[in-house]
Amino acid sequence: MHKQTQAIRIQSAQSSEKEHSTPLFLTSSFTFDSAEDMRAAFADETDDNIYSRYSNPTVDEFVAKMCMLEGAEAGFATASGMAAVFNSIFALLKTGDHLICCSSVFGSTYALATKFLPRYGIECTLVKANNPTEWEAAVRPNTKMIYLETPTNPQLEIIDLEWAGAFCKKHNLIFNVDNCFASPVLQNPIAFGADIVSHSATKWIDGQGRVLGGVVVGRADLIKEIYLFCRNTGPSMSPFNAWVLSKSLETLDVRMERHCNNALAIATALEKNEKISWVKYPHLPSHPEYATAIKQMSKGGGILCFELKGGIESGRKFLDALELLSMTPNLGDTRSIASHPASTTHSKLTEEERLSVGITPGLIRISAGLENVQDILNDIEQALAKS
Ligand SMILES: *Cc1c(COP(=O)(O)O)cnc(C)c1O
Repeated sequence: MHKQTQAIRIQSAQSSEKEHSTPLFLTSSFTFDSAEDMRAAFADETDDNIYSRYSNPTVDEFVAKMCMLEGAEAGFATASGMAAVFNSIFALLKTGDHLICCSSVFGSTYALATKFLPRYGIECTLVKANNPTEWEAAVRPNTKMIYLETPTNPQLEIIDLEWAGAFCKKHNLIFNVDNCFASPVLQNPIAFGADIVSHSATKWIDGQGRVLGGVVVGRADLIKEIYLFCRNTGPSMSPFNAWVLSKSLETLDVRMERHCNNALAIATALEKNEKISWVKYPHLPSHPEYATAIKQMSKGGGILCFELKGGIESGRKFLDALELLSMTPNLGDTRSIASHPASTTHSKLTEEERLSVGITPGLIRISAGLENVQDILNDIEQALAKS
């Protein structure tokens, strides 16, 4: 069956109540009929549920859908996206190992790579998104893994997953991708050679700004290592959040279609606006990596960004003039969201530091919601007129 159908129909076994919608197993532990059954479960001779830190039917249902959507052998769900990212790296590396990480990654991932992993003797080299020479030069005998996001945040650079897959194969490295920005319905890194894919389910997967969640999927042998590490350290997803997210996956495909259509329409209209020096959207022909974006993403995603000619001051005025769009740091919601990194999330950096991570003074990031596209555009255009 098609992925859209499976995302709706994969379900944990019906209970004796014959419920139609998916049930929620809000329980911390599970009972056994005999001492022998319990012994066998603890000895891993059966896959009976024991305790919800290890596994839970509602969480397993969410993971099964994610594995199906990403084409992965196995997975593990975590309490947040950062727990997924952290464990996908930390559970597989040890002191003395070396990680190559793309420099344009999510802020907390950047902190993990540059501040926290080195404390445990895991060295990390940052490389620029589309600079193969830097990537080649970074490889050392103890390099074990590369880590990247595509599209990157907030500049929406596209890294060629096929190229990265071949690079990892050549150097025998674990290929780890954060696929949050594209969502599993637009891009499947495993098809291009990725071994591990992580998601912040907080974004498009929930898509309604309600719960935090994360998931790691990929090669069974690597996921087993991650599972054993997580089972003992405790970042597991709550069954309640898994229930919300499993229901969300039933509508992800239709939601992404509207998010992408809205984002493309907004990006196309803004290219003509005189207050803006450039607009970036992966499926706009003007995007520098347009050909790669078309190759690996079925649609361009729900995020676009643009540069205001008026710089920082214009960015501030733009945010203040918005009437419909929300001012909040999240993305991937039914509600459209605008952010201006230079005056908010990255305001403590110097101008030079900001430029080095792609935060130009007038950069605005829009997460296109599900509202009527004309209403979103009207609000952006009236705010641009005042900025
Ligand atoms: C938000 C985000 C994360 C972190 O996810 P949380 O659920 O907030 O922990 C990781 N990577 C990317 C690309 C994100 O956008």
